[in-house]
Amino acid sequence: MTANGSIELRDYIRDVPDFPKPGILFKDITPLLADGRAFQATVDRLADRFEGRGIDAVAAAEARGFLFGTPLALRLGVGFIPIRKPGKLPYSKIGIEYALEYGTDRLEVHGDILGSGRRILLLDDVLATGGTMVACRDLILQTGADVVACAFVIELGFLGGRARLEPGEVFSLISY
Ligand code: AMP
Repeated sequence: MTANGSIELRDYIRDVPDFPKPGILFKDITPLLADGRAFQATVDRLADRFEGRGIDAVAAAEARGFLFGTPLALRLGVGFIPIRKPGKLPYSKIGIEYALEYGTDRLEVHGDILGSGRRILLLDDVLATGGTMVACRDLILQTGADVVACAFVIELGFLGGRARLEPGEVFSLISY
């Protein structure tokens, strides 16, 4: 809680050292999700930033992106578009390969629910190196839709992900 009584969201983020492997300081959002006021404040603060911006839909990658993306979409009164790992989506889809530390991964979306000129807000829980969000952004752009902004609950500023997304708008609630 801050001096004016508003919730300090970083109080609800737990640092877990060496997860999922040695040297990674994992930002655990489960305490924030478990607290109704903190979870609500997170979604409210994201919505405050993007209300009135002509967003047509929120898109987010599984799995943790869904946890914030769906309530944010409802708060904004718009739809939600899931970006998924390979083999999960049943219908005609487009995909993008992106580099991981070791090897590559792939994300897919149903192209028919996007389309030219739709204004999409992208969301994820954590911005680390930016690789995941760059892939999501490029995937959405491939469909002809516009990316209004890339938003995050947490930004790990020292990893430089923001520079890979700018000059597009990048917004985060908590920065380390
Ligand atoms: P990146 O592609 O490097 O920006 O990584 C972003 C994705 O990995 C997000 O979907 C996060 O959920 C997850 N992630 C990366 N680093 C962390 C971390 N230190 N703590 C929690 N999640 C992380």
